[in-house]
Amino acid sequence: MARADTLARARTLDRPPLAYLVRFPTPDGSRDMELTWAELARDTAWVTARLREHGLTAGQRALLTTSGFEGFWGHAVIGALRALKVPYGIAEAMGWDHRRTAVFHRELAPHAVIGLSAETLEGLAGAADLGEMFRTTPLVLARPAAVPVLRGVGVTASVIATVGPALALECPERGGAHVNAAEWRVGVRDGQLSVAAGEERVSPLPETPLGIAGDVLTGRCACGSEDPRVLFAEANQSLSARS
Ligand SMILES: [Zn+2]
Repeated sequence: MARADTLARARTLDRPPLAYLVRFPTPDGSRDMELTWAELARDTAWVTARLREHGLTAGQRALLTTSGFEGFWGHAVIGALRALKVPYGIAEAMGWDHRRTAVFHRELAPHAVIGLSAETLEGLAGAADLGEMFRTTPLVLARPAAVPVLRGVGVTASVIATVGPALALECPERGGAHVNAAEWRVGVRDGQLSVAAGEERVSPLPETPLGIAGDVLTGRCACGSEDPRVLFAEANQSLSARS
């Protein structure tokens, strides 16, 4: 049977609604949530809009650093890059794979680097000048712990981070990382972030503390979005305070 026929037949098969089991850490262990393909499609549409706000457009290139277990948001980012027609390379976000990030950065000359981790930066710092490497990258979306490291070498980064099963993505205003209010509720209690699933999610999740220090800003952002903004304490620490 020809390959095209096989694919056409495969498309007619029933697809189970479950895309991922999302496991995220909580102060007293971990929680599991189901993520359906329909939810993933909505998350992808939201990420696409956020990346478009950052000016990402067809023909530019991107480098995504993410780990396999982060597929629940990595898949949404990849879907967004495809929707925007932005070719991308993927490197593992764990420190041992920092050389792949260096090679992709050199070969792709990406417009955007998405998901930079402190571990990747630590690995790169031994062989490269981080400031020289990323100051010329127009869009750097980094994890909270990586943001002060980048700031220390003169690189302006916006935050990308998980808030439990939700993704937070900072807009160009850089006044906190937005979380999709149509899907999630984020809160703060005693300086610790919490998350709850919105009614649209298939897996119920009552308000769940996450053991992540931070704050939540509500009200309209200067970018025009009403989505709440998460401030991660880790992203706002000075380097001297970390060490
Ligand atoms: Zn905003």
